[in-house]
Amino acid sequence: SKEIRLKARPVGMPKDSDFEVASADVLQPGDGEVLVRNIWMSVDPYMRGRMMDRESYVPPFQIGKPLEGGAIGQVVESKSDKLKVGTYVNHMWGWREYATGPAAGFTPVDPSLGPIEAFLGTLGMPGMTAWAGLFKVANLKDGETVFVSAASGAVGSVVCQLAKAHGCYVVGSAGSDEKCKWLEEVAGIDKAINYKTCGDLTKAVADAFPKGIDVYFENVGGKHLEAAINAMRPNGRAALCGMIEQYNDTEPRPGPTNLIQIVGKSLRLQGFIVSNYFQHMGEFFAEMGPLIQSGKMKWEETVEEGIENAPKAFLNLFKGANFGKMLVKIGPD
Ligand code: NDP
Repeated sequence: SKEIRLKARPVGMPKDSDFEVASADVLQPGDGEVLVRNIWMSVDPYMRGRMMDRESYVPPFQIGKPLEGGAIGQVVESKSDKLKVGTYVNHMWGWREYATGPAAGFTPVDPSLGPIEAFLGTLGMPGMTAWAGLFKVANLKDGETVFVSAASGAVGSVVCQLAKAHGCYVVGSAGSDEKCKWLEEVAGIDKAINYKTCGDLTKAVADAFPKGIDVYFENVGGKHLEAAINAMRPNGRAALCGMIEQYNDTEPRPGPTNLIQIVGKSLRLQGFIVSNYFQHMGEFFAEMGPLIQSGKMKWEETVEEGIENAPKAFLNLFKGANFGKMLVKIGPD
């Protein structure tokens, strides 16, 4: 079977040559273990951080070893009474066609809730990130004003729609007219800003918020953060989820020039890591379940076929080539 290994630590924007497609033995499960055939795998922006050799909230990937990441597969052999053959599972051994490990490392997914790949997106980690950031970090209240960057992406699209479901005024930014049209017409937000063509982003954001921003959901960083701080209202909150603009930087870039406004407006900017909120998964499903079942929650997916294309899918995240959740289909359903 095939797996993708890290061949070299990327410097700046990762290159194809930083990855290697290798063949690996399919390991038979031992007692208490299962063998899973992977069907879908996720590529996520945070994986860029794990490619660097540095201490962080997750350990770095190792050169010559397979990468890891979210995947959905089906149990094909089981030596555990906890997981039956045929069960669809969510787990962290992506970037390979087969995964063998202790049953406890694989979480069953309920295919009646939605398509199985949605457990890597709207119904999974990115959806949970959106929910936790809005309600547990930024303490969003009904009817507030919300600005979201990378708004059409896996996390951003859920942020937008959860905020709309709570009666908020929502403005999102995205990198193409197609994404902006989708945000306004399908996701139903109040206004979308194409940050590539809008000219001065600070002005565009200020114009979109005549009464100011209560909550900023930060996915991008840089000029987006500066524009948001400028338009935030007194006592505004920002959930700092990610700053994708700088993940491939080789030099520190200048920060926002207007941080002093945080003082005068008594703003609260708080970073967060979704895994610290997994204990609230039940609450998340209680909120998302009805939105999904009623068809109100919309999302887009961009799919690359074949495990060899996983590095390409990953690189495309940093080019905005994905529309919605970026997935790799690595095996038949
Ligand atoms: P997305 O589906 O949003 O894909 C990434 C998108 O980011 C691209 O499609 C692109 O959209 C945008 N982007 C890429 N490069 C730039 C750039 N230089 N400037 C502006 N926009 C850019 O990915 P996710 O939804 O998975 O992740 C969104 C954010 O959430 C990331 O910052 C990620 O690190 C963070 N995250 C944080 C978690 C946490 O626990 N804190 C958990 C999960 C995600 P466009 O075309 O609009 O530019």
